[in-house]
Amino acid sequence: MEACPLEPRRLESVENGGRVREKMLIQTEPGVLMPFFAFRPSGSPPKGGWPVLIMPHGHGPGKEAPGTVSASGLDFTEELVGAGFVVLRPDARGSGERREWTQREPRSPGECSHREINQMAIGLGLSLAGMMCWDLMRLVDYISLRDDCDASRVGCGGMSGGGMQSLWLGALDQRIRCTVTSGYYYGFKGALLELPHNCACNYVPGLWESFDVGDFGALAAPRPLLVETGSRDPLNGPGGLANVLPHVETARRAYSLYGAEDRLEHRVFEGGHEWNGSGVLAFVERWLSDA
Ligand SMILES: [Zn+2]
Repeated sequence: MEACPLEPRRLESVENGGRVREKMLIQTEPGVLMPFFAFRPSGSPPKGGWPVLIMPHGHGPGKEAPGTVSASGLDFTEELVGAGFVVLRPDARGSGERREWTQREPRSPGECSHREINQMAIGLGLSLAGMMCWDLMRLVDYISLRDDCDASRVGCGGMSGGGMQSLWLGALDQRIRCTVTSGYYYGFKGALLELPHNCACNYVPGLWESFDVGDFGALAAPRPLLVETGSRDPLNGPGGLANVLPHVETARRAYSLYGAEDRLEHRVFEGGHEWNGSGVLAFVERWLSDA
């Protein structure tokens, strides 16, 4: 991967109902462009800037729908902007406006080209998950260029594929102050390697010989991490919660080394592969406050 000037461009700015949606474009590698939405409150930012939550999307129509609307209809982006946050929602490689196609037609809005990109990446010693993580790190770089954002108060959160991207970013980028991962935290060997129909973006050659999801959670320590799990989520694998809880304990041991057990929260709700969101705003507000 090769760094380059971000060259940010604002393509559009639309104000509606007390919030502004900007459509932005940055360059994450030479010639590789990433469009994203920046949602912010209308009006002036506080001294020092607004805190920021990066919200990668799961599988579906990309940045248009991050998958973080609860069953009761609560939209987490709207909640955050209403609470005084900036929310960044990028298109991941192979999703939304960044889909790359060979011969396949027709293309539904929710279809992605993750498999096509990942199999090319593997041949080059790369992985799509790594590319996604790189792009999100460049988005963190971009935040420091904005006068209206506080680059010292940046978190990330997402559901399903967005939970994957959030956990990887939170584990690997120390600038992320808190992380929310939903619908993704389960033992890889007891889930991904049992469920071959999962999308190709989940698979990194050789990684699971040495790592499992609890190690990703441990890498985030001692920075706050909230793990959300649906009790009946089929992606937990055939073992269900028994394929989740031991991996939370792996991460908890790392947090305990720092005396930071209170910074790891695991919320299990009655439900399937869905965003619940209960208590997530309070968690983000707590850890991204300017106190
Ligand atoms: Zn995928």
